[in-house]
Amino acid sequence: MKQYSHAWLAFMAIKRLEDVELSTSNRKYADSLIKWFKDHKDGVAQGAWYPDLIIKDMASSHVLKFTPGNDGERGKFRKLPTTYLLRQHCQDSDLRQRPYEIDKDTNLPDRCEAIAHSVIDNLKMQESEEKGSPIAPTDNHVATLLFMLSHYVADGHVPFHCDSRRFSDGKNIHGKLEGEWDDAIKKYYLLDEANERFFYNPAGYPLPDREKEQQYRGSFLKKVEDNLRNRDFNISWGTRNNNVWDFMSAICQHSYLFSYLFIPEGRDHTNVTAQNWKRLGSVSFEEVNIAVLCDAIDSIARIYFRIWRKYKRWEKR
Ligand SMILES: [Zn+2]
Repeated sequence: MKQYSHAWLAFMAIKRLEDVELSTSNRKYADSLIKWFKDHKDGVAQGAWYPDLIIKDMASSHVLKFTPGNDGERGKFRKLPTTYLLRQHCQDSDLRQRPYEIDKDTNLPDRCEAIAHSVIDNLKMQESEEKGSPIAPTDNHVATLLFMLSHYVADGHVPFHCDSRRFSDGKNIHGKLEGEWDDAIKKYYLLDEANERFFYNPAGYPLPDREKEQQYRGSFLKKVEDNLRNRDFNISWGTRNNNVWDFMSAICQHSYLFSYLFIPEGRDHTNVTAQNWKRLGSVSFEEVNIAVLCDAIDSIARIYFRIWRKYKRWEKR
């Protein structure tokens, strides 16, 4: 995924936590996170593209690549929460009956779990140390980690990040797909390009371009907004998933299934063209856009919330 998409998804996740219904105690946790995030977002939203521009672990930690097999026991698939579009689309995927292999050295769920721990550790260190202590991490540092985390989480939702076929080669439909998302976000929001960030509305979220409101109503971004508004939010990782790693593994497995619904078996970078790539499979291009972006926002919101709550409970110990 590209720069502005990543930052936008993190903001939309915080907005989602603001909009959804939560129990009274969870609302308190969410509100303290939202306030903290808004106080510290400035200057660190670039953290969302740090993994691409500085860390550059694209081939390992931004992906978990699956290849379907033919012989042997069928692969095991973890469950996603019922509200997930990825789950709904992939319920009847034929690939569920088949084994799969995961490319060695691809490890996106490990990366997400590691940063989640790091956020909590840094918050604990900060809380335990006197101000000015050389050990105490700054708020900006923790906020940067949260943006970095959202990057890896979002990448797990991109079908081509979980599919070993080489869609960055040939016509680079991987780049094209992500390009369409980034173009839409850059089109409908006002950008402070000199500072590589969004302009913000009074609530602290990316400021939509009022002049394009009419066009926006017909865009897939509006459908993402509508879908999320009507979708229940639960903080569950999904049945039998217990942590960020389990949950992100479930996401990547479904991303793999979804990739094959969009670009069916028998297709690869040699025979997908710039003309046909959007209409080869049983899910439409628009369904892909909506499922990926909605589910990514929901996942970032859930992960942010859960790690923040975990820290806050420690703080109250
Ligand atoms: Zn990435």
